[in-house]
Amino acid sequence: MVTSCQVCGLVVEVDTENGLKASCPRCSSVLFKSSGGMLNTLLLGISALMLSVPAATYPFLVIYISDEKSSATLMQTAHIMFIDGFGIAGAVILFTALVFPMCYLILIVYVAFGCVAGIRLPMVWKAVRAIDLFDYFQMTDVFLVGILVSIVKLIDMAEVSFGSGFYFLIAMTVLLISAGSYYDKRLFWCRVQNAE
Ligand SMILES: [Zn+2]
Repeated sequence: MVTSCQVCGLVVEVDTENGLKASCPRCSSVLFKSSGGMLNTLLLGISALMLSVPAATYPFLVIYISDEKSSATLMQTAHIMFIDGFGIAGAVILFTALVFPMCYLILIVYVAFGCVAGIRLPMVWKAVRAIDLFDYFQMTDVFLVGILVSIVKLIDMAEVSFGSGFYFLIAMTVLLISAGSYYDKRLFWCRVQNAE
């Protein structure tokens, strides 16, 4: 595969079949990593998707009202905020903490699976472009901001503490960021070329 160095622009021929890793002969930045990177993306992405289930369905908030303890899941929390007139904050929490991360995870798991298995999946180009869009808007930062906003917003409201769903959400976000850090679009191109 012929590729160009993203740091110094040197055009280099890389052996993607046998090499685990290739560096630029001029500036020694990494040009190519083995499929281990995409395998990590796949495994971390699937783990994060699995954690999104308890993050959405386990108690996110524990609310104390005069010694009575009640709890709400993330979706119920967004719903309660919507009813209480914090509709925009509720929607921000729901989308940034759950909907966008799940879309992103499904997309990178899909692309990473095709790459690791060496098969061309339908609509995979659209998935790669959609991931670019998420990366362009720095979505992982947005996910973190979403969690931060929910913390600040909820500490304001009555006697609340966080339930297990909240900690699942934090773990899911950490795995999501790790999965994204191993995602390498350039590797994806060369694996699909090899599969043809
Ligand atoms: Zn270089």
